[in-house]
Amino acid sequence: MKATNEINAAVLAAFRRSLPAWFRRHRRALPWRTRRTPYRVWISELMLQQTRVEQARAYFLRFMRRFPSLKALAAASQQDVLKLWEGLGYYSRARRAHQTAQWLIAECGGKFPATYEGLLALPGVGPYTAAAVGSLAFNLDVAVVDGNVERVLCRVFAFGGGRQQVQAWADELLPRGRAGEFNEALMELGALCCTPRKPDCPHCPLRKVCQGYADGQPENFPAKAAKKKLPHKVVGAGVIVNDRGEFLIARRHEHGMLGGLWEFPGGKQEPGETMTQCIARELVEELGIHVRVGSCLVVVHHAYSHFTIDLHAHWCRINSGRPQNVQCLDSAWVPFSKLREKPFSRADLHIIAALRGVKPPEF
Ligand code: SF4
Repeated sequence: MKATNEINAAVLAAFRRSLPAWFRRHRRALPWRTRRTPYRVWISELMLQQTRVEQARAYFLRFMRRFPSLKALAAASQQDVLKLWEGLGYYSRARRAHQTAQWLIAECGGKFPATYEGLLALPGVGPYTAAAVGSLAFNLDVAVVDGNVERVLCRVFAFGGGRQQVQAWADELLPRGRAGEFNEALMELGALCCTPRKPDCPHCPLRKVCQGYADGQPENFPAKAAKKKLPHKVVGAGVIVNDRGEFLIARRHEHGMLGGLWEFPGGKQEPGETMTQCIARELVEELGIHVRVGSCLVVVHHAYSHFTIDLHAHWCRINSGRPQNVQCLDSAWVPFSKLREKPFSRADLHIIAALRGVKPPEF
C-alpha cells in the first residue's frame, strides 16, 4: 500500500510530548534499563530479537552475573557462552556476540564505537542493533524500527506495511537529542498498549492522531501476510550408551543451525527409509560407527521458526567402529550426571529429561 500521510503538528506533538509522558508513567522496570552501558544494551538487544521480554529477562540476569563486562565475555570459552544461551534459540547470536567481544577487546581497546557507522561496522551488527545501541547507549539521533514500532506507525497512519516508509516516518518523528527515550517509548507502547490483538486504544497517548483507531479497526494494520504452513521434518537420533553407562554425544559444526551445540547424533529421515535405517545410516555418516538400533526412548515434537520436527530418539549400541568426527566438530562419551554441563538445543534437552531415572534396555 502506498502511504499518503503527512506528519502534521498534532501528530508531532503526540509523538514528542504525549508519548514520552506516557512512557515515564508506564515503563517497565527491566534489568537492562538500569546501568545502561553499551555492553548491557547490546546484549539485551541481541537477546530480545525473536525472544519475549519475560524470557529474555532471566537470561540477561544470568548472563550479566557470569559475564559482567565485555572483557569477561571475551575471555570466556564459546561453550560457556552457548551454555548460558541454551534454550534461547538463534545460537548464531551468542557465537557472534562472543566473537565481537573478542574483536572489540583486541582491536578497539575494549570500547564500543560511539557512532552509528562505527557500530554498523562491527562484525555481526546490523542496522537494527546499531540503531538500538547507538540511540539507547549513546543517544545518537537514529530511529529504531522493530516489529512493535512498525505496528504502531502502521496503525497511526492506517498504512498496510513496508519497512522503508515506516523507517522514514520514524526518522521524521524522532526528536533530536532525545532519541533513546523516544525509541524506547515507541517500542514500549507497541509492547504494552498497541498490542497485535486488542490494542488498548482508550488508554493510548496517540489515540487523538491515530487513523487506525479513527477508522474503527486498528487491528487491520499492518496487513497480515497469509500464514504459510511450516514444513515438517522427521529426524532420528541415536542414544548410544556404552557398558560404563556413558552416552555418546556429538558437537555440531559452527556454521549452520544450532552451530556449536551438542546433540544426540542423527539426522533427517530420507524418503522410503525406516527410522532404524535412518539412524544407522546417519551414525555411519556422522561418526563412522555401525550401530544396533533398539527401542524408541522418546519422540520429541518441536517447532523452530521455519519448520517443525518430530525427533525420534532410539537406544543404540555400537556394533563396530570407533567414533570419529566425520561430520561433526567433536564427540565425547559423557555420563548422565555430566550431560547438562554441555550446551544442547531444546529438543535434545527433552531427550536428556526422558533419560532421567531410566535404565538402558538390553538388546
Ligand atoms: S490508538 Fe490504538 S491503534 Fe492507535 S496507536 Fe494507540 S493503541 Fe495503537
